[in-house]
Amino acid sequence: MSDDADAPIDLRSDTVTTPSEKMRRATANAPVGDDVYGEDPSVNDLEATAADVLGFADALFVPSGTMGNQLAARVHTERGEEAIVEAESHVVNYELGGFAQHSALQTRPVEAGERVVPSPAQLREAHHAESLHRPGTGLVAIENTHNAKGGVVADVADVAALGDEASALGVPLHLDGARLFNAAVAAGVDVTAYTEHVDSASVCLSKGLGAPVGSVLAGSEAFVADARRARKLLGGGMRQAGLIAAPGRIALAENVERLADDHANAERLARGLDGIDGLDAADPETNIVLVDTSGATLGAEALVERCRDVGVLASAFGRETVRFCTHLDVDRDAIDDAVARVARVV
Ligand SMILES: *Cc1c(COP(=O)(O)O)cnc(C)c1O
Repeated sequence: MSDDADAPIDLRSDTVTTPSEKMRRATANAPVGDDVYGEDPSVNDLEATAADVLGFADALFVPSGTMGNQLAARVHTERGEEAIVEAESHVVNYELGGFAQHSALQTRPVEAGERVVPSPAQLREAHHAESLHRPGTGLVAIENTHNAKGGVVADVADVAALGDEASALGVPLHLDGARLFNAAVAAGVDVTAYTEHVDSASVCLSKGLGAPVGSVLAGSEAFVADARRARKLLGGGMRQAGLIAAPGRIALAENVERLADDHANAERLARGLDGIDGLDAADPETNIVLVDTSGATLGAEALVERCRDVGVLASAFGRETVRFCTHLDVDRDAIDDAVARVARVV
């Protein structure tokens, strides 16, 4: 965000944060080598740290969360299998059908509702053994926090129960944890409370954690070795990638606990927006605020446009839903300012 007083308050996404001075200095000074040879110390350090934090044997630095999820599907499955996915999840709605394109998977969406993750009973019902007629279930993928549901946090017990059921069925469970740290901070647990129940997890460094680029995909040693080959296959082998891994390392070390500030700001924002006649804001669990515009007989696009006119950026998220996302470049004052501006135009 620029220092310009007229700069818009950008609440479209937590991906819009720009790297801190410390991150920029880390990039300038990062020891680097050729990461395809495994010789970039900054990448190796980030991967070792991420594996440790996430409670897995190994981790892989990848350019995006999408690549992390796609590599997981590729490695966990055989062509022609079925992947059970939550119906509103990122992997099925926002990754260009990658499971089909990269891994030749058929997806079977399961609507988990407010639980965020499918129940063991839903998994048993959706699961199929391979037969002459049916593709076998090769993967279950869950998301936490759940973006489309509004940054909703999964219960640890629900993830544990699903993990038990998946293991009993012999099906790998992947966690799209783009905002897993938000979930853990909101739930008051360590991230490993979630990851201990899954076979692999991807987390974004470039969202609430504020790094400029990248995600990590974590799992067993064998899984990560296969993911490293699959990353190369997709053209994601990077050379002196320490330049982007170094700020990611800072993001992991310094920007996790402060996510609580983003959550408090989201609550403040939701209360403010909900107080505007015609807008109905859901109570946020983390840093995402979904606002229902139907009471104002305003479509989502129309509200987004009016907000833009007064210097508040948000995202249309369905016909009558607008998403506002808090992050480390918007403080409490900016939130109050945003509410005042939106009030003027609704
Ligand atoms: C952002 C996001 C991703 C990955 O996004 P990239 O833009 O590819 O880094 C994956 N899953 C969820 C739930 C996300 O919000």
